Order: sequence, then structure tokens, then C-alpha cells
Amino acid sequence: MATTITLTGAGGQIGYALLFRIAAGDLFGPEEHVRLRLLEIPQGLKGAEGAALELQDAAFPLLDDVEVTDDAAVGFSGANHALLVGARPRGPGMERADLLAANAGIFGPQGAAIAASAANDVRVSVVGNPANTNALIASASADGVPSDRFSALTRLDENRARAQLAATLGAPVADIRRVPIWGNHSASQFPDIAHATVDGRPVAAELAERVGDVRTWLADTFIPRVATRGAEIIEVRGSSSVASAASATIDHVRDWARGTDDWTSAAIVSRGEYGVPEGLVCSFPVRSVDGHWQVVEGLDVDDWSRARIDASVAELSDERDAVRALGML
Ligand code: NDP
Repeated sequence: MATTITLTGAGGQIGYALLFRIAAGDLFGPEEHVRLRLLEIPQGLKGAEGAALELQDAAFPLLDDVEVTDDAAVGFSGANHALLVGARPRGPGMERADLLAANAGIFGPQGAAIAASAANDVRVSVVGNPANTNALIASASADGVPSDRFSALTRLDENRARAQLAATLGAPVADIRRVPIWGNHSASQFPDIAHATVDGRPVAAELAERVGDVRTWLADTFIPRVATRGAEIIEVRGSSSVASAASATIDHVRDWARGTDDWTSAAIVSRGEYGVPEGLVCSFPVRSVDGHWQVVEGLDVDDWSRARIDASVAELSDERDAVRALGML
């Protein structure tokens, strides 16, 4: 049996980088066949059709079928995993409310289409921004689909944070563990090193030897570097990050499907953990167990960290209120 994966925004840049990784077996390993559904808006169809031609030419042994469509009912039909990448970017002069409204108009109907036609075990990973609130809207519109089947990507932020720590400590990135992202996938996010380890030793103690006052380094260097890395990439590269976003999406979906042996980060629907209002889609330290994200509970959160988490959660509440005020939630 092949796994059916639906990708929205399949004609876009991240979609292009993702498709070939999925078809090569990077999500589920070399044994599992995949079927791809490429969902686009009419103006994006040509890009998705072109990608489908290239997928054919790559002759991937694990790729059973590719279908391109602009009909959500067809696109989500039988989907085991839905990767919602396509979103409306902020245009010139667009206010936040306009951006939220435009995306609610995309993610609401997609949530309804997922409820109507996806497989019973569907898992939905939202990449398109504002990702947390888009996931909230999709989940709220997906009658009958449990809300724990929706999550939004903060894995790129976590990967960036681990990579920055590795570079600062001169350690292999694989040795850096337990660096969760809290809150929103936005500049307000809080990458948390309080429980992080390098090769099993506490990161904080090792950082002190290299950067002096750790709090000052976190506040002035590390957190802004991670939170604004996307802007740095745009400045250097001339366009936004693509392959790293696709790679983090692979990490996220693979871990959700296959499980984790340690913590990672994902934005999931809050059940009130750590005082985050129920129903917000908030990033937490999580494990993936038997196909379900589980918040790592019982961590000590000091006042310094609490203030940062609260600020990001307040932004999520504001986004939810704005969508509610538009009557779209
Ligand atoms: P990209 O493929 O570069 O980005 C797609 C989305 O991913 C954007 O919302 C972008 O947010 C978000 N994103 C999340 N993390 C990152 C990151 N680290 N770096 C960059 N982007 C990130 O956009 P394209 O314009 O190339 O492609 C979008 C495609 O989606 C188009 O083909 C369009 O037709 C399609 N689309 C499809 C829809 C649908 O299927 N219903 C609806 C709307 C669009 P940000 O805006 O913040 O960069």
C-alpha cells in the first residue's frame, strides 16, 4: 500500500524542493511507496504540471502516481498526509488583518475539504504563513477530524537554533539536543536553551565559557539571530529560504509519522499546557509517540523564559481574535 501525500502550493518554490525529497523516499524510507497529489490554484497549475513532468523523468522507484489538480476535493482525496504549503504572501500595503483574512479564505475551505475527502488517519502539517493561525483555521473548519491531527511547522526554527549553538560551541549539530521553540512561528518565537545539551552535557555551562554572560548573549545575539534568520537569508541570497524550509518539513512529517527518540518542536493545538490558552496552535517541546505529538510536560520555566513565551502566546491570541473579528473562525 502506498501512502498518499497531498501538497498544496506544489507549483511554488518550497513545493518544488519538497517533491523530489518525498519522491526519493526521504519521508518514510526506502521501502514505502508514495502517491502524490499536487494541489494548486489555477495560476499555479503550470508550475505544478511542470514539476510533475520532472518527477516522471526522475523515474523514482518509490513513486507510484502523481496527480495535479486545482480541485481541493480531488487533491485531498484519500490523503494520509496533507502538507499545506501554499499561502497568500503579504503584499505591498497589506495590513495584518488583510493577510489573516486572505489566508483564512484559503485554509478554511481546505480544512473542510480535508474533512470531506482525506483518509481517516490524515495528518495535516501547515507550512504556509501565518502557519500557526492557518492551522487553527484549517482545524476549526475540519468537522470530525480530531484537532490533534493538525500541526504547524516550527522545525526550521529549531534546526536554525541547533545549528547556531553548534557553530558557537564548535560541536557537531547532531550532538545538540533539546532546543525547543515556544510560541508562534514569527519574530516573537522563543528558542529555549534552558534544557539543551551538547553531547549530553548542559549547553548553558559550555556557553558561559565562550560567550560570557549567557542571558545577554541569548537576548542580544542568539534569539534575534534565530528569529530573523529568514530575513538574513533573503538579504544574502536575494530570495527567501527554500531548501532549508523543505528539509525542515521533511523532518517534521517524518518524525510525526515515525516517532522521535527525544524532544523536538511542533506547533499543536494547546490543551492548556504551560498555561497556554486552550485551542491556540502554539509551538511546544514535543515528542512524537505512535503518530501523536505529546507535549513534554513538567519542565521548569523561569520568569525570564516565561515572559518570552507569554509575549509570543499573546501574539497568537491576537491573531485568533483578529480572525474571529472577521467572522472567519
Ligand atoms: P514558497 O513556496 O516560497 O512559500 C510558500 C509558503 O511557505 C509561504 O506562505 C511562505 O511564507 C511559507 N514559508 C514557511 N516557512 C518559510 C521559510 N522558511 N522560507 C520561506 N517561506 C516559508 O512560495 P511560492 O510563492 O514560491 O509558492 C507558493 C505557491 O502556493 C504558489 O505556486 C501559489 O500558486 C500557491 N498557492 C496555492 C494555494 C492553494 O493550493 N490553495 C493557495 C495559495 C497559494 P512567507 O509568505 O512568510 O514567505
